Amino acid sequence: MLVVGADGVHSALRALLVPQVKPRVLHYVVFRGQRRVDAADFGRLFGLALGEGNVLEVRRDGFVLLVAVDDRDGDEHVLISWFYSRRARPGNDVLYRPGRKVNEANVIPEEFYQEISGIKGLVEPFKYICDMEIMRRDRIQNFLMRQLAFNSAEFKELAKLGFVFLVDAAHGTPIIGSEGVDYAIQDPLDLADVLDDYYIRDFTKERASAEFEQADPVSSDRLRAMILKFYETKLPDREGTSSWQTVVENAENVLATMHNT
Ligand SMILES: Cc1cc2nc3c(=O)[nH]c(=O)nc-3n(C[C@H](O)[C@H](O)[C@H](O)COP(=O)(O)OP(=O)(O)OC[C@H]3O[C@@H](n4cnc5c(N)ncnc54)[C@H](O)[C@@H]3O)c2cc1C
Repeated sequence: MLVVGADGVHSALRALLVPQVKPRVLHYVVFRGQRRVDAADFGRLFGLALGEGNVLEVRRDGFVLLVAVDDRDGDEHVLISWFYSRRARPGNDVLYRPGRKVNEANVIPEEFYQEISGIKGLVEPFKYICDMEIMRRDRIQNFLMRQLAFNSAEFKELAKLGFVFLVDAAHGTPIIGSEGVDYAIQDPLDLADVLDDYYIRDFTKERASAEFEQADPVSSDRLRAMILKFYETKLPDREGTSSWQTVVENAENVLATMHNT
């Protein structure tokens, strides 16, 4: 049996098997908004600043405001998104809600709008982004900067049973400054590299269901060796190799550097 847990940072499989391994919320306040901009306004407000690029950023007074061009909506509109982020303030910071429920991400406190209104001296297109009348119509979400520093021993125990975790389910990093998308490609490729022909070419639906029917929770030695080989380069107990622990630490450092303004 081979079960791949690639179900994201909130991984239900991970929560079922190792409920004690939970993402930690870093001390940042992050809001993201999405906006549909009239193409003529886009050209006027963004054209010069963007040039050939598709991301603009301002770092000031402890906050970062980032704007990204996401897509075109026909010839008439351009879809953009913005991120406003800063470190959580010590004491009672009403915008830092590490304990909020997943379905409360769309609840935007009035204090957020007040904070944005207080930002002065922005140039275009950031001034346009922070136009309160327009911003209140944006689709805004509050994001928590989650980081998953797992325990190698627990993952290796699960490997012995045929469970392997990838990408955010295994090494979730904050979405700002993240390289999660790269790992969403790299991790499966690396796993495929260590799986031998039995799992890559010969594993038919019939064989999968035959294995399942046997209801044998203990994987073969061969499969266990394959998964452990995959983890060898990923988990943080082998010196001199890049590991997921480094990925997690680097992402936290990137976030800290961005907000050292
Ligand atoms: C707004 C935003 C912006 C981002 N920007 C960037 C960026 O610029 N650069 C970057 O590198 N990364 C960025 N990221 C992070 C990146 O998207 C993730 O790191 C990456 O997608 C993780 O891949 P994954 O396959 O582990 O998880 P996901 O992409 O989350 O995929 C998990 C999949 O599992 C499915 N799933 C979950 N639970 C179940 C279940 N119980 N049953 C069945 N299916 C289930 C989900 O529907 C989903 O399809 C961003 C993330 C967000 C949210």
